[in-house]
Amino acid sequence: SIVFLNDGFMPIEEAKISPLDRGFLFGDGIYEVIPTYNGKAVGLEPHMQRMFDGLAAIGIKSTKTLAEWRELIEQLLEANEGDYLGVYLQVSRGADVKRYHAYPENVEPTIFAMTTAIKPAIAADASAAKGFSVSTTEDMRWKRCQIKSTALLGNVMHFQQGYENGSDEILLYNENNFLTEASSSNAFIVKDGVVITPIADNQILPGITRKLILDILEKDGSIPVEVRNVSMEEVFNADEVWVTSSSKEIAPVTSIDGKVVGDGKVGQVWEAAFKLYTAHKYEY
Ligand code: PMP
Repeated sequence: SIVFLNDGFMPIEEAKISPLDRGFLFGDGIYEVIPTYNGKAVGLEPHMQRMFDGLAAIGIKSTKTLAEWRELIEQLLEANEGDYLGVYLQVSRGADVKRYHAYPENVEPTIFAMTTAIKPAIAADASAAKGFSVSTTEDMRWKRCQIKSTALLGNVMHFQQGYENGSDEILLYNENNFLTEASSSNAFIVKDGVVITPIADNQILPGITRKLILDILEKDGSIPVEVRNVSMEEVFNADEVWVTSSSKEIAPVTSIDGKVVGDGKVGQVWEAAFKLYTAHKYEY
């Protein structure tokens, strides 16, 4: 595949970075993944805004403007094959001359972009959708989960825990037994027709899929939405549970820790929400 590194495009085999790159040594960088379907991006601007927020939060000076990123993404999509591509963007603080914790001055950030194959949008049909099975565990990550940092070891270790249990994802809860999110997704529950998701504070990544779903449902108005704390008791007693992300869109969860969710089938609110999402996602 063709990737972008620093100032140009090249085959991935030719893309090389220094072992002193702080992305490599410290996980000192910010990344983003933007889904595209037949060249059409979903949520490009909110994705880029989140990346700019993350860079500002860790003190990496602005690298490219929105217009420059847009152009880079267009060229990257033209250079690569595939109808369903995730655009992976990463900016690390760059390579210093030595390994030293303090942010170095006058170091150019390392800019990297590649495409990854994503699945086509899943069938907007409850009978065709696969239910996810998830496990649960206490969230052991840091208190700055709103930053989309490349330092993903906490998330990776949680995902692996679920993976080794045969789960598709793992739901995380804080020390007060409230749902935070999942290891690589946001989480929603549905109870008595109301869609509920945790507040986007420092305990979760403010997912763009989450944001789009909330906005689309609020504008449509037929499905009530609440953003508030969600206890794990509510999760286990929910009629439906969903996990959402750019690559999986809205995935219905049908089993948690081996127990069925609701009636064990993909839910009707999921089906309605997914249809609305599919109809409106390109507006963002
Ligand atoms: N939470 C975490 C921890 C994530 O890594 C992701 C993205 N994979 C999400 C939530 C979902 O974010 P988005 O909808 O922007 O992909």
